[in-house]
Amino acid sequence: MNGSPGQSNVQEDTVKLEGFGERDLYQRREKIFTRYVGGFFQRLRFFTGWPLLAGYFLLPWLQWGDRQAILFDLPTRQFHILGLTFWPQDLWLLGWMLIIAAFALFTFTTLVGRIWCGYTCPQTVWTAIFMWVEQITEGERHQRIRLDGAPWNFEKIRKRFLKHAMWLGWAFLTGLTFVGYFTPIRDLAWGYLTLNFELIGTWAALWTLFFTCATYINAGWMREQVCIYMCPYARFQSAMFDKDTLIVSYDAARGEPRGARKRSEKPDQLGDCIDCQLCVQVCPTGIDIRNGLQYQCIGCAHCVDACNQVMDKLGYDPGLIRYTTEHELAGGKTHWFRPRSAGYATALIVMGSVFLWAVITRVPFEVDVLRERGQLFSQSSDGSVSNQYRLRVLNKSQQPATLSLEVDSPLPLRFSVASPISLAPVELLDLPLTLSADGKDVTTPNAEVTITVCEAVTERCDAEVTRFLGPSK
Ligand code: SF4
Ligand code: SF4
Repeated sequence: MNGSPGQSNVQEDTVKLEGFGERDLYQRREKIFTRYVGGFFQRLRFFTGWPLLAGYFLLPWLQWGDRQAILFDLPTRQFHILGLTFWPQDLWLLGWMLIIAAFALFTFTTLVGRIWCGYTCPQTVWTAIFMWVEQITEGERHQRIRLDGAPWNFEKIRKRFLKHAMWLGWAFLTGLTFVGYFTPIRDLAWGYLTLNFELIGTWAALWTLFFTCATYINAGWMREQVCIYMCPYARFQSAMFDKDTLIVSYDAARGEPRGARKRSEKPDQLGDCIDCQLCVQVCPTGIDIRNGLQYQCIGCAHCVDACNQVMDKLGYDPGLIRYTTEHELAGGKTHWFRPRSAGYATALIVMGSVFLWAVITRVPFEVDVLRERGQLFSQSSDGSVSNQYRLRVLNKSQQPATLSLEVDSPLPLRFSVASPISLAPVELLDLPLTLSADGKDVTTPNAEVTITVCEAVTERCDAEVTRFLGPSK
């Protein structure tokens, strides 16, 4: 791998076995000092990163009526998202959501490569913020390299302290906000402001600490290591790439042979690359894109902006490094519509529609019927047969509900619960239920019973099937 001072170079510990070549045993990380670069794609990142940050930090502060609009309340097992409340019974919807997210990722990766990694992945966005903090506290790339090699003195301690304090402050805000999705954020924030640990709570404090440390380490120290070694997506996304997938690529046919030159001249024997190394110096993963497509490339386009600026200064056409496809680089045309991308997109649309339909038609209450343990049935002196149950009715919505009860069975059964049943918002009622029939009507020892609960206004129903047991004839 090519390198320049302050960029990632391979430090090799090698072993030589007889009859085999040399093998690297491990690769020590060298610090990457990225150079700041502006340009079109960095401005674009501003419009993708800031909405993500604003959404993340502001959403838990939104109110919906008298509660937090988005609150995953684990102790009560209620997950509030705006006007909807989800319960553990709705976890299958989360499963659907994850599958849809996976297919969305497949679709976009097939078409536009690592657009997620380069523009909206939280690791990329938070690392960019930490790098910006580093730049305003320690200076530009050459100043940071110099500071890193300098002996410890007051100035170095001051700058490092300031950087780490700002990193930790941002990491703490990130951790607090994350925990604020699971516990009321106003109490949490007020608890931290007033140092009232009773208000914060032990678990919330521990999780805030955990997410603060995770953010500080991931975005401050590990950075590109997370993308290169820890993120599974970086490894399996190549399976979704084909020759028509958008990638950041160096146009070797135009750029080679590379070489330095005076600004005013363009020697015939040289290509457009002046070997200035700027594309390497701005790369957050420390790679040289001129060596071809590498899995470390997160598609952030820093190198595109850097090289375009060089081309501009030289009066050359932009795009020596650009978003392109393998087909286009080989002189062909990019095919946006392909069986693979069409397949992923179709699956995405179908699953998205099913998910929407499931959410819209979701029954906002639930009925559960459990047989009482012990006695199978009881028979009174007049011959009538009774079965005991527990009827659990849950109102999953934020509105009061009035539900009617119906019992459907081949036997003429009577039930003991007064219908309709009134429920407060998110109330769970646990009622004793007795089903009974005259002895002469119990013609079978085991009859199916369907208990249906319906809401009059929405006409939505939920049903549960159970058995009615009686004596053998
Ligand atoms: S920035 Fe452009 S000109 Fe400079 S080394 Fe990279 S590819 Fe060559
Ligand atoms: S090679 Fe270019 S696009 Fe890829 S990670 Fe480095 S700077 Fe970003």
